[in-house]
Amino acid sequence: MKFYKRSQTRKINIGSVTIGEGTPIKIQSMTSANSRDWKSTVKQIKQLEEAGCELIRVSFPDMESAMNAGKIKKHIKIPLIADIHFDYRIALETIKQGVDKLRINPGNIGSQDKLKILIKEAKKAHIPIRIGVNAGSLKGVYNFSDNFIRAKALVNSAMEHIKILEKHNFQDIVVSLKASSIDVTVQAYKMFASKRNYPLHLGITEAGSVFGGTIKSSAGLGIMLYEGIGDTVRVSLTADPVEEVKAAYYILQSMELRNSGIEIVSCPMCSRCEFDLIKIVSEVERKASTMKNLRKLSKPVKIALMGCIVNGLGEAKDADFGIAGGKNTGILFKKGKIIGRVSPDKWADKIISMIKNYMT
Ligand code: SF4
Repeated sequence: MKFYKRSQTRKINIGSVTIGEGTPIKIQSMTSANSRDWKSTVKQIKQLEEAGCELIRVSFPDMESAMNAGKIKKHIKIPLIADIHFDYRIALETIKQGVDKLRINPGNIGSQDKLKILIKEAKKAHIPIRIGVNAGSLKGVYNFSDNFIRAKALVNSAMEHIKILEKHNFQDIVVSLKASSIDVTVQAYKMFASKRNYPLHLGITEAGSVFGGTIKSSAGLGIMLYEGIGDTVRVSLTADPVEEVKAAYYILQSMELRNSGIEIVSCPMCSRCEFDLIKIVSEVERKASTMKNLRKLSKPVKIALMGCIVNGLGEAKDADFGIAGGKNTGILFKKGKIIGRVSPDKWADKIISMIKNYMT
C-alpha cells in the first residue's frame, strides 16, 4: 500500500481529457514553435504526442496567431490550451477557433468588464480556465524576502481571481501557483490545497536546462506529488519540449503514479565492469523510447543492465529480465533465473527483442 494519497479535487474536462477527482495525473507541455506559423506548431505538437504528451499549451501573442488556433486544433489529437496575456480579444478569438481550455493571468487580462465577457464566452463554449499565477507577475507584493509571505501572495492572488470567476458562477477552474523557488512553490500549493479543491497544475517555473531543470523539477514536484497534490504536471525546461514530456513521465513513474513503459535498473559501475555499460544503457533507452505500445502495458517492464555477475544478478533480481556482464559475455536472466549468455555488443538488440516479445 502506498503511503501517500491523492487529494480529491474537482473533476474538469479539457476536451477529451478528464483531470481531477483522482484520475491519473496528466502530462502537459508547451510548444516553443512560433504559433504564427501553424504548420511548424502542428509539427512540434505531433512530436510531443508521439512522446506521450496529453495536453498541449500554445501561446497566442497576437490576433494573427490566434486566427491559427482552429487550424492547429484540426491537425492534432490532444486538447489544445490557449495561453493568453494582456488582450482579452485574443482569448475570445481562440475560443471562437475552438480551443479546449484557456490559460490566463487574470491580473494582466484587463478590466473586470473584459474578464466578465471572457468568462461568459468560456462558459458558453464549456471550456475551463486556468488561473496561472506566476511569481514574476506579482512584483509589488512579492518584494518580500520571506518565502512564506511570497507563497501567501501567490495564493491570495489566485483566491482573488477565483472569487471573480465564482461571482459569475464559473467553476471550471484549474489553478497554478508557480515560482522558480521550490520552497515558495511548495508552500503555495500546500496552502492552496488546504483551502480549495480546484485541480492543480504543477510546475517549477523557469527550472533551467535539461539536466539542472529536470533535477530541480523532480525535487519540487516530488514533494508535492508525495503530499497527494497535483492533477497535471509540466516540467518546464529550456530545451526541446519533448524532453519535458520524457522527464515528466520519469518523475511520475519513479513515484509509481504513471507508467512510462520501461524502467531500467542499471548499476553505477565500478572496477568490476569491463565494458561500455553507459553506451548500452543509452542505446536501450533510445531504442525503447520509439516503441509505440510500451505505455499500454499495465505496469512498466523492468529491465536490469548490470556491470558484473558478482553482484549483478542479486541486485537485479526484481527485474523482469536483464543481463549481467563480463568482459566478453553476459548472463541473460529472466525473473532472476539464468536463461542464456550474450556478448556485450549484442546486449541492446537482445534486450529490445525481449521487450518486443514481452509485449506480445
Ligand atoms: S553490479 Fe558489479 S560492476 Fe556494477 S557496481 Fe555492482 S559490483 Fe560494480
